[in-house]
Amino acid sequence: MKIIRTVAELRAATEVAGRIALVPTMGNLHAGHLSLVQQARQHADCVVTSIFVNPLQFGPNEDYASYPRTFEVDCQKLEAAGCDIVFAPTVDALYPVPQQVTVNPPPIANDLCGAFRPGHFAGVLTVVLKLMNIVQPDVAVFGKKDYQQLFIIRAMVEQLNVPVQIIGAEIVRAGDALALSSRNSYLSDPERMAAVQLNRALQGVRDGLAAGRREFAALEQAAQQALAAAGWKVDYVTVREAATLAPATADTRYFVILGAAWLGRTRLIDNIEYAA
Ligand code: AMP
Repeated sequence: MKIIRTVAELRAATEVAGRIALVPTMGNLHAGHLSLVQQARQHADCVVTSIFVNPLQFGPNEDYASYPRTFEVDCQKLEAAGCDIVFAPTVDALYPVPQQVTVNPPPIANDLCGAFRPGHFAGVLTVVLKLMNIVQPDVAVFGKKDYQQLFIIRAMVEQLNVPVQIIGAEIVRAGDALALSSRNSYLSDPERMAAVQLNRALQGVRDGLAAGRREFAALEQAAQQALAAAGWKVDYVTVREAATLAPATADTRYFVILGAAWLGRTRLIDNIEYAA
């Protein structure tokens, strides 16, 4: 497995690589990331995993500086998972000049997580488009854990005619159903025990839908109240139409229930798809 730090070296290494799959990550890799690498493996001759904590997608009061960086261990895991190239540029290598040209995301980027993280999705789309232009992959794999991100990346690729096939990978969870996340490492032991409550709250909404209930606001409020009563600060719990991320209606058949909430100083997100 090659470890590459510069755009020029990456270009040289991928010139005759055959079919290429890209897995963009911010490192601190866990089994969720590795499942993306394994899917990428099935679609390409050469799997490139990028590790880059992208300053553009963090707000001024967010965790850019403290984001966990575990490069050596990440590389060991990637090698074992069958990755061919780790692309880990420095900030200067990826942003050699101030990034004045950015991708303007669709309106949905101001909703859900975007309502609480202004500018986040512009930062995500800009780095993803840069990585796609650098690596020139045939396919790129993203996790459904970041459901809104996957949706917005699909919109960018479609509307900007980016010639990359996007694959959405299922969420990998811990034994208690907590979605794996690099930010789980911020949790104290008692917080880690409590963290599954977010998924349980979303499951409660799903159970309501499965029982035929369609008063979405009441279902959302019950979940938010359960989390608040357990000490969480809830950003949102909402029932959406999976295909559009628009609020669910009486006609919706394919739902996604999305939630984001703070446990202490850690912001966790999760979602559940449900087909009625
Ligand atoms: P991150 O390093 O958090 O930027 O995530 C990199 C990629 O891994 C994104 O496409 C995420 O959606 C995906 N990912 C993160 N956690 C999981 C998980 N638990 N299951 C599946 N994919 C995940």
